[in-house]
Amino acid sequence: MKYKFIERDKLKEKPQGELGFGKYYTDYMFEMTYTEDEGWHDKKIRPYGPIEVDPSVMVLHYAQETFEGLKAYKNDGKVYLFRPEMNAKRFQSSNERMCMPKIDTEEFINIIEELVNLERDWIPDSEGASLYIRPFMFASEKNIGVKVANKYTFLVSLSPVGQYYKEGINPVKIYVEDKYIRAAQGGTGFVKCGGNYAASLIAQQRAEEMGYTQVLWLDGKERKYVEEVGSMNAMFLIDDTIYTAPIDGTVLPGVTRDSVIKLLDEFDVKLKEEHFTIDFLIDMIEEGRLKEAFGTGTAAVISPIGELGYKGNSYIINEFKTGDLTKKLYDRLTGIQYGRLEDKYGWRREVKNDHC
Ligand SMILES: *Cc1c(COP(=O)(O)O)cnc(C)c1O
Repeated sequence: MKYKFIERDKLKEKPQGELGFGKYYTDYMFEMTYTEDEGWHDKKIRPYGPIEVDPSVMVLHYAQETFEGLKAYKNDGKVYLFRPEMNAKRFQSSNERMCMPKIDTEEFINIIEELVNLERDWIPDSEGASLYIRPFMFASEKNIGVKVANKYTFLVSLSPVGQYYKEGINPVKIYVEDKYIRAAQGGTGFVKCGGNYAASLIAQQRAEEMGYTQVLWLDGKERKYVEEVGSMNAMFLIDDTIYTAPIDGTVLPGVTRDSVIKLLDEFDVKLKEEHFTIDFLIDMIEEGRLKEAFGTGTAAVISPIGELGYKGNSYIINEFKTGDLTKKLYDRLTGIQYGRLEDKYGWRREVKNDHC
């Protein structure tokens, strides 16, 4: 193996029954450290477990932190990643915005492949299950002055996860948030950083109290334009066209979003990647022209939206049923991810058994 390997005394028991999401972690994780003098160094695969940090590490005070999320899929003993170079590039753009050091695409993918290959036995192969991969970086310099840190830690942990929704895909209720905002032009909306989520929790909590699953964010300036759902990009089928917010600073550039857009052609569906207002969307529901709505993201893949709550009213979409296009996109995408369908875009990357 390319990295230093610190072995566990005893391997963990593999979980039995429901895996849930983020409940279990594998035996090992990857760790490396960055300093200005040495660059990335002390690269190792070590037992998964607590890490020791000084109370004054900067991330705990000023939230200089970024993360990624992708999955490894197992089918017939073969293991695949899905477009990991997209995650590598997005991680670079997140780190650039947060004044954090770069990890090259090749190294990012290599680290993940070495770790996933080592933990192959942890990858569940039941329907819809996978291994969730969480790379993340944080400022680990001990200093409570506000400045760019000079030391960082990068970790990758692995968590076997079950199908996101137990009964397959089911519509969810979404609350249109018109008080709090997630992102504004010039901010960090396009970045996967913990701080975005910390600031969004209050809206998420309020939505849950009202019986909704997640919120639909509107733009930060006018609370007028539709942006995205909590941890997913949002798509709306109006007549024969998918409407989705453009990637221009405030919306997270999702890998699933990009993949769905590329698949639309195959289903003869047009695309409008433009700003559109919540009022337009409500009009389209009332005129019966909004046929389907769904969120896209690595965790749930495609999540149909069955209801929108906005300013005290509730709007049902497609009789709260999963739409045809939604279902077809889900089947096509998961088919490619698990190696069941032809991969004509070259999205799949097999993690070979002889990698080490
Ligand atoms: C990660 C994320 C998404 C989805 O991105 P994928 O690459 O498709 O998983 C969408 N919105 C936000 C805010 C996210 O953090």
